[in-house]
Amino acid sequence: MTDWDHEVDVVVLGSGGAGLTTALTAAANGASVEVYEKSATVGGTTAVSGGILWIPAHNRSSEGELSVDDAMSYLRAQSLGFMDDELVETFVRTGPEMLDFVEEHSDLQFVVAEGFPDYKPELPGGRPSGGRSINAKPVELSQLGEWAERITSFPADFSNVGIDAETRARIHAAVDDRSGDYCVAGTALIAGLLTGVLDLGVVPRTNARAVELIADPLGIIGVRISQDGSEFRVHARRGVVLATGGFEWDAKLVEAYLRGPMRGAVSPPNNTGDGLRMAMAHGADLANMGEAWWVPIVQLPGDTFDGHPRSRSVRLERTRPRSVIVNRAGKRFLNEAGEYNSMAGPFQFLDPKEGYANDPAWIVFDAQHLKRYGFLGVLPGDEAPEWFSPSNDLAELGQKTGIDADGLARTLAAWNENVSHETDPDFG
Ligand SMILES: Cc1cc2nc3c(=O)[nH]c(=O)nc-3n(C[C@H](O)[C@H](O)[C@H](O)COP(=O)(O)OP(=O)(O)OC[C@H]3O[C@@H](n4cnc5c(N)ncnc54)[C@H](O)[C@@H]3O)c2cc1C
Repeated sequence: MTDWDHEVDVVVLGSGGAGLTTALTAAANGASVEVYEKSATVGGTTAVSGGILWIPAHNRSSEGELSVDDAMSYLRAQSLGFMDDELVETFVRTGPEMLDFVEEHSDLQFVVAEGFPDYKPELPGGRPSGGRSINAKPVELSQLGEWAERITSFPADFSNVGIDAETRARIHAAVDDRSGDYCVAGTALIAGLLTGVLDLGVVPRTNARAVELIADPLGIIGVRISQDGSEFRVHARRGVVLATGGFEWDAKLVEAYLRGPMRGAVSPPNNTGDGLRMAMAHGADLANMGEAWWVPIVQLPGDTFDGHPRSRSVRLERTRPRSVIVNRAGKRFLNEAGEYNSMAGPFQFLDPKEGYANDPAWIVFDAQHLKRYGFLGVLPGDEAPEWFSPSNDLAELGQKTGIDADGLARTLAAWNENVSHETDPDFG
């Protein structure tokens, strides 16, 4: 192959957390590196995420060393027999080294997210008191110069991302005594990684989409990039890294691979499975394709993003008192306050007669709930909009929504009884 436009050691495709961390590692170890990013901004889903790293075994906890054995037990307990032990143990063992490396080569500093529990703390090896979840410290944006304006952003959901609004406010409060424009969560992760790669002379190229991997008989040796209407071919002497994110914005891939219906994505719309398709074109083995980062969503009437109906994750709202989640039979089917990822299973439950009996579902709450907490952008005490289906009684609510009113009445009677005993025998 002689018609390369140029040569480099390592080509990284995508500028999210995976891409920038790889670029940082390769560049810090002396490789020449180029990062190509399809979108006009860098950071991908990572930039709009909660940015919490889950590093299960390390010695940064105030409770002492978190062991590899406990981490492996915890992961094994939830892998349902499908765990690749060697791969998982590599992840567990190398986490601390990764944190040290990134701190050494960028402006990022990591701190344990105190009190942030494991998602399934009740499992063997689980940690109810937390310790494994790690936050990036706030990063000052101004040090990034023009790049401060070039990080992917997203209007925050009502219930906010990974860290809730209160925590966010606390973090801001903590840095208020210093001057500057700080960012937190996923944005901080990307901003910090950017400081590292820019310092090493790696300048991500945006609006530059990888369209094809180029192979010789021994493997992948380069990539074809499309940028501003023209194309060029880059020879990668040491490797091409696919860090192009997910495929949730490609309806065909979603239908082909995910284990159940996905009604909408809460990520930026660049995740169209480009890396996946490029790898498949060269016969890559695939695994674990049915899984995703799942979260319950709402789609509000008239709410759009980039011309698509916008989906918003529902996290904080469903955890509050005086509310239940029910299906169209009026039955509860999960722990409303459970962690989001595990809620996908109950939502995707396939009933032999009813089909997807729990999808869609409704959050039913009373007037006092709205008055005390507000709901999805409606402030405490404000009028309920029509799309809340405000109703005087369960019959009216049933008529407006299609929920079986008798089923709902039975559910609420049982719920209120359980509340008076402070138990939830059905879902814990
Ligand atoms: C709201 C939200 C909150 C989350 N919170 C957390 C959390 O707190 N902790 C956690 O661990 N996970 C969290 N997640 C999940 C996590 O954000 C993602 O798993 C992670 O960011 C994926 O990182 P990535 O680098 O693989 O991909 P991304 O960050 O999505 O980056 C991929 C990049 O590749 C680019 N790209 C795509 N195709 C091409 C192409 N052909 N050529 C060049 N570039 C291309 C994209 O534009 C994008 O910039 C959250 C997700 C969401 C949606």
